[in-house]
Amino acid sequence: MVEHWIGGAPTAGSGDRFADVYDPATGRVTKNVALAAPADVEAAVAAARAAFPAWRDTSLARRTTVLFKFRELLNARKGELAEIITAEHGKVLSDALGEVSRGQEVVELACGINHLLKGGFSENASTKVDVYSVRQPLGVVGIISPFNFPAMVPMWFFPVAIAAGNTVVLKPSEKDPSAANFIAQLWKDAGLPDGVFNVLHGDKVAVDGLLTHPDVASISFVGSTPIAQYVYETGTAHGKRVQALGGAKNHMLVLPDADLDLAADAAVNAGFGSAGERCMAVSALVVVDSIADELIAKIKERVATLRTGDGRRGCDMGPLVTGAHRDKVTGYVDAGVREGAELVIDGREVVPDGDADGFWLGPTLFDKVSTDMSIYTDEIFGPVLSVLRVDGYDDGMEMINANRYGNGVAIFTNDGGAARRFRNEVQVGMIGINVPVPVPVAYYSFGGWKASLFGDTHAHGTEGVHFFTRGKVVTERWLDPSHGGLNLGFPQNS
Ligand code: NAD
Repeated sequence: MVEHWIGGAPTAGSGDRFADVYDPATGRVTKNVALAAPADVEAAVAAARAAFPAWRDTSLARRTTVLFKFRELLNARKGELAEIITAEHGKVLSDALGEVSRGQEVVELACGINHLLKGGFSENASTKVDVYSVRQPLGVVGIISPFNFPAMVPMWFFPVAIAAGNTVVLKPSEKDPSAANFIAQLWKDAGLPDGVFNVLHGDKVAVDGLLTHPDVASISFVGSTPIAQYVYETGTAHGKRVQALGGAKNHMLVLPDADLDLAADAAVNAGFGSAGERCMAVSALVVVDSIADELIAKIKERVATLRTGDGRRGCDMGPLVTGAHRDKVTGYVDAGVREGAELVIDGREVVPDGDADGFWLGPTLFDKVSTDMSIYTDEIFGPVLSVLRVDGYDDGMEMINANRYGNGVAIFTNDGGAARRFRNEVQVGMIGINVPVPVPVAYYSFGGWKASLFGDTHAHGTEGVHFFTRGKVVTERWLDPSHGGLNLGFPQNS
């Protein structure tokens, strides 16, 4: 059984509810995970609260020593962590390793927290008065993460949160819970004091417990848009600072002057990598009509070389996370056919290199998709790529900006002027120019616009540091013979 990790040790907790954890490549249940009861939420928050004063007062030198040690352990053991991810999520091992490496970049950012926490200082702002700012940790912070990146998404937040002096309760997805416990053990081995990093497994009960708990100062959430909105509204109504990252429908606009081989590679990688279960996956390929046939032919050639199968066997694409999710995605393929899109590659016919009971669906490509079809309007979160044909740049831009989501977007072109206009006009948070999955490096911030993010702070980078700290400004004067006398007027600087 996968247990909670509270106060530096695994604990079964007091709940009597459990969820099945599957190996998606075999379709078999491999474990159970504990689902927290309200008393477990109390225990996790109490452990984090008790650990906060000492951790907050631990010097930056000591905190960063722990961070560096954690980075070394993570780096040395990333292969084991990737195997855990593949066994519960299904993504192929190379992709799981990539996920850990991108998370590790945020740990490396947090190793330099002493630079990022420096405040400002103005000497003699008024006569013999100095003014300076400091940033202090919030306290107990909650992190709630989705199934699709069980290591990287939590690592968007907790390295910075911990480095800044906060204590953490992480509520991972119940679909692939083991990565969080592996990480908790690494923290312990790195010398992090007990209670600074806690893992609370569970579902809505755990989430609601964190959202309403008076001792939880902030919530960082990543998941689907309806839940992100609920988390934002509930958390802020309970006085918390909330950043809630939601779903996506990412477009890739291909102009006639693009390098079509580059664009075809990009469309396949970004459409079918991780079986399309990425919030930065491309699912809408917006192509100028004059080059659409040629681009589709190139994509077909490439997809024909892909192997779908067990992520431990060197395949290109793994299964979907659960049987229910696979059925939902397959339902969208059925709907696309019904609604009149042209099915160019049918993933339902895939012959996987894996167990017959795995949750398989092969790469699927639709052409002649229109914006009223459900395969376009909805986030499918599977290996289904839709081609939408447009007359030119203006048409494409209008379509992208009319979409309710604004997470990631890409343009493929060799026209610098078009690319420049695109980056200026597009209503999306993360933009790729001839780059298909433009996930920012750790020292920039990750986050979308519109229905892809509720709140106004993105993850990691300087925005992450800002989210996990709050500012104080100190105006200071030390007495000297000129200190002045009574003056009830509003303080003026002189
Ligand atoms: P999800 O919304 O179902 O679950 C996310 C978290 O919320 C999980 O921890 C889950 O236990 C919890 N949860 C689920 N239902 C809940 C409820 N009714 N009340 C309270 N909590 C609840 O998302 P998922 O299926 O795990 O992940 C896929 C989604 O995440 C996709 O929509 C994807 O686009 C999104 N995502 C977004 C980003 C981003 O950066 N914007 C990154 C990764 C994933």
